[in-house]
Amino acid sequence: MEAIEVTGLRKTYGGRDAVAGVDLVVARGEIFSLLGPNGAGKTTTVEILEGHRRRDGGDVRVLGEDPGTAGGAWRSRIGIVLQDAEDAADLTVHEMVRHVAGFYPDARKPDEVIELVGLTAKRTSKIRTLSGGQRRRVDVALGIVGRPELLFLDEPTTGFDPEARRRFWDLIRTLAGDGTTILLTTHYLDEAEALADRLAVVAAGKIVATGTPATLGGRASAQAVVSWRDTGGTPRTERVDDPAELLGRLLADGTDLTTLTVTRPTLEDTYLSLIGATR
Ligand code: ATP
Repeated sequence: MEAIEVTGLRKTYGGRDAVAGVDLVVARGEIFSLLGPNGAGKTTTVEILEGHRRRDGGDVRVLGEDPGTAGGAWRSRIGIVLQDAEDAADLTVHEMVRHVAGFYPDARKPDEVIELVGLTAKRTSKIRTLSGGQRRRVDVALGIVGRPELLFLDEPTTGFDPEARRRFWDLIRTLAGDGTTILLTTHYLDEAEALADRLAVVAAGKIVATGTPATLGGRASAQAVVSWRDTGGTPRTERVDDPAELLGRLLADGTDLTTLTVTRPTLEDTYLSLIGATR
């Protein structure tokens, strides 16, 4: 059974399509990332999958159930880190995590979760005294404390400093290694590239491309740009399908290969051209 199966998902606000026919399959144990510009329909899609919004059309199965009708037992199997989480600011980090752990049948130990998100030093601090990035880590702790089979992360690392982001990436890999399925919405393409097994680009309520980070939008088969300095020291650049033949020629010419670079479109280049095509 797949973790998430969506066909023909639609959601309309005031006669305007926010989600206009999304088809999506996320396998168990996969880290799947949704990318797309502001207003593309990512949060609407994810909130329907979480059972927080009603759909206007299409079929949705999450862990084998319809989120529109699934009950508490299903809810305890998913974890959610919302984009704008509310926080009970007068509780300490430990009190809050312990409180939420109490809702789940097989919760992780609060201190273990606090350690996982790197907040041990703030364990007894009131949440309202934390920085924005530290509060976001509390949100992540609350999302994982119930030991979810499926974790929804909506822009989880907004406000994280670079080191905290790297720690968070390690945490996500650890969770995935333990079999947790993860649906990650992010605007950070490096984050999607670092974490996702597969990703989908959403634009204007539709999925415009799906693939692995390496193959999305034909990225793997895109031409390589090879630059070097020739034997006279003049900069040269060629676009080629397969750099091997060109490299053979350069070697034979006695070109100084320390000047050589081979680049392909970055995930960002591919993403921008995919969403540009829909405008
Ligand atoms: P972002 O990257 O900014 O979070 P998103 O891809 O998550 O964007 P959504 O929040 O799903 O986008 O919004 C999709 C569209 O639906 C937008 O045009 C938005 O204005 C509209 N929309 C979302 N929620 C509502 C609502 N409750 N009422 C009316 N329109 C809404």
